[in-house]
Amino acid sequence: MSYHLIDGRKVAEEVTTALEPRLAALRESGTNPGLAVVVVGDDPASHVYVRMKGRACERLGMASRSHALPSTTPEEELLGLIDALNEDPEVHGILCQLPLPSHIDERKVIDRIALEKDVDAFHPYNVGRMLIGDPLFLPATPAGIQHLLVTSGVELKGRHVVVLGRSNIVGKPIAAMLMQKGPGGDATVTVAHSRTRDLQGITSQADVLIAAVGIPLFVKRDMVKEGAVVIDVGTNRVDDPGTEKGYKLVGDVDFDDVKGKVSAISPSPGGVGPMTIAMLMANTVLAAEMAIGR
Ligand code: NAP
Repeated sequence: MSYHLIDGRKVAEEVTTALEPRLAALRESGTNPGLAVVVVGDDPASHVYVRMKGRACERLGMASRSHALPSTTPEEELLGLIDALNEDPEVHGILCQLPLPSHIDERKVIDRIALEKDVDAFHPYNVGRMLIGDPLFLPATPAGIQHLLVTSGVELKGRHVVVLGRSNIVGKPIAAMLMQKGPGGDATVTVAHSRTRDLQGITSQADVLIAAVGIPLFVKRDMVKEGAVVIDVGTNRVDDPGTEKGYKLVGDVDFDDVKGKVSAISPSPGGVGPMTIAMLMANTVLAAEMAIGR
């Protein structure tokens, strides 16, 4: 079976290009959207993501500010920084790169971000609005997955989507979004996780399989239905002594194993990753538009 490659880099580029007229209109009225990214500690992957977000802002001419704090930063100090960013009129979007060091209560920090600047959409209020189908912002990774599916012409209405993983940032929200009434939704969604029985029996019934487990090359050919659409969310570092960095990134799906069986597949890298950044930029533009009452 020949498959269609769902190219996240290309779709992300289209999303970003579509922001340009909105950015021009904002600038005409004297507003340049600004994103503040806070990172605590020295997790190398977190710093890579922060740099990627900064570069994406730069490419669009948006203001970006990164606040890199040491891993010993007291919780109160971090909350104080969030308060200051909430008050700063040049900052329209705030995100705090997760995970945070264990002495900091992640929930407390997310709860402190002003609702209208919560471009990650992790605040419980924004999670609730997404769940009832009236979102202020949509979380970037699930929004990227949904956009990839819709723009690739994948029919969702009445189809069986299986989401592998139930995290608050990927599994739960994408399941909630695809089950909403209306365009981009109307799917019948099953969520599977580490306690699921007969995982292979469930995944192999999926018309659309979304893998967000965080285990390199977890999804094999025998877990996929003939003709299914597969979206690989996984971004896993695996040792690769042959490369300069000493590691490479691989997805949760064994691409080479499943590619002969699927009708379409979004690989990792090159799929959901670039979409996440593009959707974050879109949320920041939206936050700036809301700030000036558009
Ligand atoms: P997470 O919080 O670790 O959640 C992983 C989920 O997978 C959990 O629900 C877990 O089940 C489930 N799981 C683990 N082992 C399993 C097994 N053997 N069988 C079935 N389910 C299993 O991870 P996450 O934050 O959702 O991220 C998932 C992957 O996506 C990671 O590789 C991450 O790097 C990547 N990611 C990529 C982007 C992007 O922008 N491209 C953004 C976010 C995440 P339990 O709940 O039972 O533990």
